[in-house]
Amino acid sequence: MKRVYNFSAGPSMLPEPVLRRAADEMLDYHGSGQSVMEMSHRSKIFGGIIGGAESLLREVMRIPENYKVLFLQGGASSQFAMVPLNLMNGSRKADFVLTGQWATKAYKEAARYGEAHVVASSKDKTFTYIPKLDPSTFSKDADYFYICMNNTIYGTVYHELPRTGSVPLVADISSCALSRPIDVSRFGLLFAGAQKNMGPAGLTVVVVREDLVGHARELTPTMFNYQTHADHGSMFNTPPCYAVYICGLVLDWLKNTVGGLENMEKINKKKAGLLYDFLDGSRLFHGTVVKEDRSLMNIPFVTGSPDMDAKFVAAAAEQGLVNLKGHRTVGGMRASLYNAMPVEGVEKLVDFMEKFEKANA
Ligand SMILES: *Cc1c(COP(=O)(O)O)cnc(C)c1O
Repeated sequence: MKRVYNFSAGPSMLPEPVLRRAADEMLDYHGSGQSVMEMSHRSKIFGGIIGGAESLLREVMRIPENYKVLFLQGGASSQFAMVPLNLMNGSRKADFVLTGQWATKAYKEAARYGEAHVVASSKDKTFTYIPKLDPSTFSKDADYFYICMNNTIYGTVYHELPRTGSVPLVADISSCALSRPIDVSRFGLLFAGAQKNMGPAGLTVVVVREDLVGHARELTPTMFNYQTHADHGSMFNTPPCYAVYICGLVLDWLKNTVGGLENMEKINKKKAGLLYDFLDGSRLFHGTVVKEDRSLMNIPFVTGSPDMDAKFVAAAAEQGLVNLKGHRTVGGMRASLYNAMPVEGVEKLVDFMEKFEKANA
């Protein structure tokens, strides 16, 4: 068996111990004589799995008691509509910062339901930075203020959160969830598609402050109402059972093997540091993002020549360093260094980049 180092932006690597444990438990989960994929979601044994995943998430992320955790489907993209349907219910205004394609999609979707206001954008420089925000330009009566915390395609991250006062801050954390500790109490709502850092595709995790649940707009489909899922413990209908189970194993790994989010952050800083330090000294490769807004998770870089980029991506793949091609709209390369990417994978990548540079610069 040969495993590659997979730098994909998502779906992406899962921790090897998680995959091994899932393989061990595949045919007979804890003496039940069934795979988790086969069991009733109403069974006691699955109740233990989903309850266990929720309490691990609460513990690892230190989620306060007055927040609901919802295990949903529909991807992060469904949240672009669910958030306005549930939260745009007072002034029907919301503020947005446009830091890339995902934030822009969320903004466009919200604009179908109310007054979506762009407070800042970094589109002028292809989203290579996080705009400086001036709170005096925020809508005082907005129902919420929306950001995409880590910009998967462009490789930027907020190191400082906007000061929105009593206006609830909503953040898409799809590509940085669980990468480091965050203060959940600063947010009204957080959501993430699991396939970047939490588990397999098919699961979307929403963490929402209780007082924001229960005020959905009249036309909201039942399945798009947070209250539906909060009232039924994410079991109004069949949840993505197997994805929830794997997410639970990932959280168990984070807690017991990694030792929590503080340790995870140290490891992630080490990994990203290896690659950024190399890029800063390279004659061939360079990063595309302003230094102070660099993401720990997604690191785009270019040589300046599309032909050289393509040659590098192909040569790296031959070495078992795969999915380094940049997003189709950006070009160049992107290395996604999510939690499951071992330090060794980044060391191998940097070694290979050094060799490639010597041979081609
Ligand atoms: C991947 C991604 C999405 C889209 O997620 P889906 O689950 O495919 O809908 C949205 N936002 C961010 C920040 C992402 O990285």
